[in-house]
Amino acid sequence: MSIKNSTALRTHLCGDMRSANIGEVVTLCGWVGRRREHGEHLAFLDLRDFSGIVQCVVDNSVDVRSEWVIRVTGKVQPRPEGTVNSNIPTGEVELAECKIEVLNSAEPPPFPIDQRGDDVDENVRLKYRYLDMRRERMQKNIRLRAAINSAIRKSMESQGFTEVETPLLMPSTPEGAREFLVPSRNEPGSFYALPQSPQLWKQLLMVAGMDRYYQIAKCLRDEDLRADRQYEFMQLDAEMSFVNKDDVIAMISTAVIAAAKAATGSEPPPIERMTWHDAMNFYGIDKPDLRFAMKLVELTSVFAATDFKAFATAESIKAICVAQAQYPEQAASGRNKLDALTDRAKKLGAKGLVWLKVGEAGALDSPVAKFLSATEQVEIVKQTGAVAGDLVLIVADSWSITCSVLGQLRNDLGRPPVHQGPYRYVWVVDFPMFVGINPTTKLPQPGHHPFCHPHPEDIDRLESDPLSVRALAYDLVLNGWELGSGSIRIHEPELQRRVFRQLGISDEDADHRFGFFLQPFKYGAPPHGGFAFGIDRLTAILAGEDNIREVIAFPKTQSGSDPMTNAPTNVESAQLTELGIRLLPPPIK
Ligand code: ASP
Repeated sequence: MSIKNSTALRTHLCGDMRSANIGEVVTLCGWVGRRREHGEHLAFLDLRDFSGIVQCVVDNSVDVRSEWVIRVTGKVQPRPEGTVNSNIPTGEVELAECKIEVLNSAEPPPFPIDQRGDDVDENVRLKYRYLDMRRERMQKNIRLRAAINSAIRKSMESQGFTEVETPLLMPSTPEGAREFLVPSRNEPGSFYALPQSPQLWKQLLMVAGMDRYYQIAKCLRDEDLRADRQYEFMQLDAEMSFVNKDDVIAMISTAVIAAAKAATGSEPPPIERMTWHDAMNFYGIDKPDLRFAMKLVELTSVFAATDFKAFATAESIKAICVAQAQYPEQAASGRNKLDALTDRAKKLGAKGLVWLKVGEAGALDSPVAKFLSATEQVEIVKQTGAVAGDLVLIVADSWSITCSVLGQLRNDLGRPPVHQGPYRYVWVVDFPMFVGINPTTKLPQPGHHPFCHPHPEDIDRLESDPLSVRALAYDLVLNGWELGSGSIRIHEPELQRRVFRQLGISDEDADHRFGFFLQPFKYGAPPHGGFAFGIDRLTAILAGEDNIREVIAFPKTQSGSDPMTNAPTNVESAQLTELGIRLLPPPIK
């Protein structure tokens, strides 16, 4: 479908001017960009609309300034020899004999619009977001996002999914994140929660026989903001009936690949899979970044009979090799940097960090070398594949600490910025049902939300050995960012109660808090499963950005405020009274 760009006010778009238009008289509308005086009488103006910029040759008496809105009628002509600008698509032409109509004047903008804006303070960018978004970078990002959304919708619909909208005002649910609450006026003292995700609704849609549901849904979580987290974010949310995890993974992969193709023009290779256990064992993290190696190397058996005390009793001993060839600076770390790495390892929960610098012929330079037998030294070098100049880091601890500490050090030392290619997608499958025991409540802590189906082979151990139970849960990871997660759900009411009981939610409690959710499952819930992935994160990476703020039209700052609208703001006391709310004095800091 071709789009008609001419309107009552213009005949073409600025960015569309090419040599083929030479000789045409066109009328363009846009904002005044850079102006350069040219000789005594002439000036060059860049005219900008969303499609790009075009150079206009004007009389230098023309009084138009930066960001004024103008309408220009002129003749397209070739730029004189030697002045062609091959950096922009319109660089071969310019508009001459220009007649200018001012549609609106403008105050000088608080920052130049013709630059990327990396050096402008974040608060200032967001205070003037409507100007920030005029930039080419933001225009591209927001339109890329739309293209991704559109590709996802098309893909989901072609796979038989039906879009259903679900409520924003709902009861509080046990999905794990802190919720935003909305006070009820009709029932003072009662609150709605804004959805952390449409999880409950989509499962009810399966009971309702919708078979395949999707929605590009707004989700809200009151959690500290980071580069990959905003209070409000968009997810492709999907649920399907009569499926197993391979079905879900296949359908979501199809949508992600379609989105990636729409954004980059090329199709990523089929997405690989890895178990959660392997992800932890080899990358030390459940969202492994596969763009770089430095994998965790197993050394436990090397030290089975060691005399070195720190290694003798450890459950798990692993190493990473910081190769000089790839990481010359890190591999050559001096004493201060090595001490800082040791401190970092301790902060992350390890008892310590052993470092060894590999010299010629496998000689090891390390404060602990004298405690290691010759065979142990040879094996360290052999197993890690280290060569002269490399740095080997070893942690000895419980399996989970060894993995997580080395996984974090691996990321600290080797991880490229998230948006840097190549794109490495991976499905991480077979997550544990519970991730540990809460030291205060002594109850197992759920890995995902409590609706994930335990692995059928492990259900018998739900009560006797909960930490060994795998869930039919899976995550999709891209370049070390978790894009999303999903699972096959529990559709058997009794099994759901067993899981709730494990989490300390009694049957009465469950009926009281989630009766509306449990009740429908008595009326013939089909086996079902689903997934949700973050559109902001996917878009940011594909747009070459490392903060999701750059692909959201009106995001919040790191501290959760909006410098443009000043939200969150105080409200009239009458509004509070109506809601039955009286404020406590602010907490003393
Ligand atoms: N509702 C889950 C989430 O938002 C995803 C899912 O299990 O479908 O993380």
